[in-house]
Amino acid sequence: MGDFKTLLANLDDDYLVGMANKGIVKRAYKDMEAGDYKVLSVDGDAQVTVGGETVVVRQPLAESTCSCPSRTICRHVVLGILALKEFLAGEEKGAETQKEADGKTDVEVSHNDGVSKENGEEKADRKKEVNEEATEGKSGDFKEDANEGDLKSHLLSEISAFSLASLKKMLGVKQLLTIASQKKSGQQPKITYSSIVTVQLPKGGNTVKLLSPLEYSTCTCHKKEFCVHKAAAVLWCKLEAGEVPEEELSGAEELQEYAMGEVKDAARQMKGFLEELLDTGLARTSPDVLDYLDRLALISHNAKLANFEGYWRALHDTYGNYLKRKASFDVKKLMEQFARLYRRVGLLLEAEDALQVSELAGEFRSEYVPVGNLCLAGIAMEHFESQTGYEGETVYFLELNKKEWYTYTSARPVFYEATGHRGRQEKAAAPWELPVSVKEMVGLRLNLSGARADVRGRLSASADTRGEVTGSCQKENCLHSGELSGWYYRDFGKLFEDKVASMRMPWLKGAQGERRDGELVFLRPYSFTKGEFSQTEQKLTMCLYDKTGREIVLELAYNKREEWGINYLERLTEDREPCFLGKLYFKDGRMCLYPVTVFEKGELAEDLDCTQEGGSGETCGEDYDDNISMGQEDVKDVLSCVLEDSGTLLEELYQSGLDTAHDSTLQELNSMSGLTKQYGLLRLSEMLSQLADGAAMRRHRLAQKEDGLAAVYGRACEYLYLCRGKVEIDRGREYYTSASKER
Ligand SMILES: [Zn+2]
Ligand SMILES: [Zn+2]
Repeated sequence: MGDFKTLLANLDDDYLVGMANKGIVKRAYKDMEAGDYKVLSVDGDAQVTVGGETVVVRQPLAESTCSCPSRTICRHVVLGILALKEFLAGEEKGAETQKEADGKTDVEVSHNDGVSKENGEEKADRKKEVNEEATEGKSGDFKEDANEGDLKSHLLSEISAFSLASLKKMLGVKQLLTIASQKKSGQQPKITYSSIVTVQLPKGGNTVKLLSPLEYSTCTCHKKEFCVHKAAAVLWCKLEAGEVPEEELSGAEELQEYAMGEVKDAARQMKGFLEELLDTGLARTSPDVLDYLDRLALISHNAKLANFEGYWRALHDTYGNYLKRKASFDVKKLMEQFARLYRRVGLLLEAEDALQVSELAGEFRSEYVPVGNLCLAGIAMEHFESQTGYEGETVYFLELNKKEWYTYTSARPVFYEATGHRGRQEKAAAPWELPVSVKEMVGLRLNLSGARADVRGRLSASADTRGEVTGSCQKENCLHSGELSGWYYRDFGKLFEDKVASMRMPWLKGAQGERRDGELVFLRPYSFTKGEFSQTEQKLTMCLYDKTGREIVLELAYNKREEWGINYLERLTEDREPCFLGKLYFKDGRMCLYPVTVFEKGELAEDLDCTQEGGSGETCGEDYDDNISMGQEDVKDVLSCVLEDSGTLLEELYQSGLDTAHDSTLQELNSMSGLTKQYGLLRLSEMLSQLADGAAMRRHRLAQKEDGLAAVYGRACEYLYLCRGKVEIDRGREYYTSASKER
């Protein structure tokens, strides 16, 4: 019984709100004013009647129950607790005065006695105050006594007693790594301390209210059990209190899904094999190379290096194409594939902890985070079939307020009927409780509340998200160009400046380089050529032109799924005033479009103000023209020749192998080293001469294998790739921003 007394004396509204919620607590206070409650017994579990219900108040308080049908902490229980608190406080007051009369019973407050010889209730209150002060002032020595009944310190000691090992178990590796990376990048949760601890997890994550006892904590995910969010909240508190050193998170041995020994061993095998490939040369590669590549994929798999497994499988395919003499084989691509993998293996060898390994290995999935309410227009749908046996649809949405793309993907395993034909799946239903199918979301305007998306703009089908159809975007409500600003273009020069000029093409795609999925553009060409299907290349090509004659190449490769699209595009004529929606990419100095859908006349309206944008591109082009002299253009041409020739030499080296390079290749490497130096490409020049010298030494068997030549080779490939990208963008800029084109 005494337990209740101390517990309830310290109980405050924060705690009650944590247990139930603000509304319920407010309601309970209101009911309290009405006064329809009575404390029946305080022996063992206390009994309180509240209105017609009977509440049993238990310890811990969250175990209290009520006779009403509610299965959570209801307003009766809250009122029951408040009533009991009131009742016991009245009783305590009596007891305090009693004690006072008895004289010195409490050592801690004995120093007060000198002044407390007078009488009256006032004094009892004052004594209580002093007592509390003493409690707060004391820290170490009398911790046990002093903290008794103090909910906050109870809670804090529970948090600090929570073992790190069990937290780790609850969170799992991925969550732990997420927290470690958030901590590293300074994304802190918001933590407020009162009788409860409220933790708002970083990046708009769940809000957790930690209560004493901890197992009665609550979370906005509404799970009764100790969910990962609660575990994360406890861990953050421990981090903030300095109880867990940061290194514990990213480096501790027991949390590692990655056995660092195994990872490093795998990386060393990979490095060794890649160097052997380069030393031997493509021309002398034996067919059993495929078995080795398979083995390395398996080794990567066993070491849980998912991305690396993929890289080895891809390399396996390329070598397979080479050995089968397939037309699609391209030695330049193989060389880059090799150089990238070599670099990644190097990074893996340098990785210091599980966090870094997981970033390279691709186990680091981005999380869905709340993005608030979205006002979406369903624009288009794309079918996909993955190589891993899934198929489905991706729906592209444009968010009309922030002008951002979002996607929703519905995937299902491909299933085959007994007859061997592909089975027809039921129409997949739309998420977010929308009364339509996935397909029918295209052409609708939607409001989403409580939406969640990952960094790439992929929407989650979360049960917390509610969708509402607010209209259609067809007929008289059709999309109009004003709504699509930032994505709608008539002027291809402006399009280039907006979307391509700033494009960086990193050598290795990293997590930070992740772009949003489905960044589509709407292109309204001034004119276009008839779509033509090439039987030899198995693809449809057509050219779109803007008013000044700047060209964008539309390409669609043949596959069964695209058959309809190809037929459609072949017959498309200018009088239908089409607007093309597709993915923009940049190739050989030109912008290209992979079409997703086409809007015809009447399906997309054009606002007047948008048509004016035509002028801006031209002025921009003139500006640029002023800065370009003929001389610079010449340099650019020669530069791209030099880069091309250097690339060819690196390909020759890959063919012959570093151990058996031809005399002619070595000579050319040396002269190219001189030429690149003249053009100011000093690093390239240096690398080429290192390769020439190194390979010459190898032929005379003067050098050991640890000459680091493979690394030089890899860096040279990277350098060429970046330079070529830069030159290409500059060329594109010249084309797209200069004055009218003749055609
Ligand atoms: Zn109730
Ligand atoms: Zn939760």
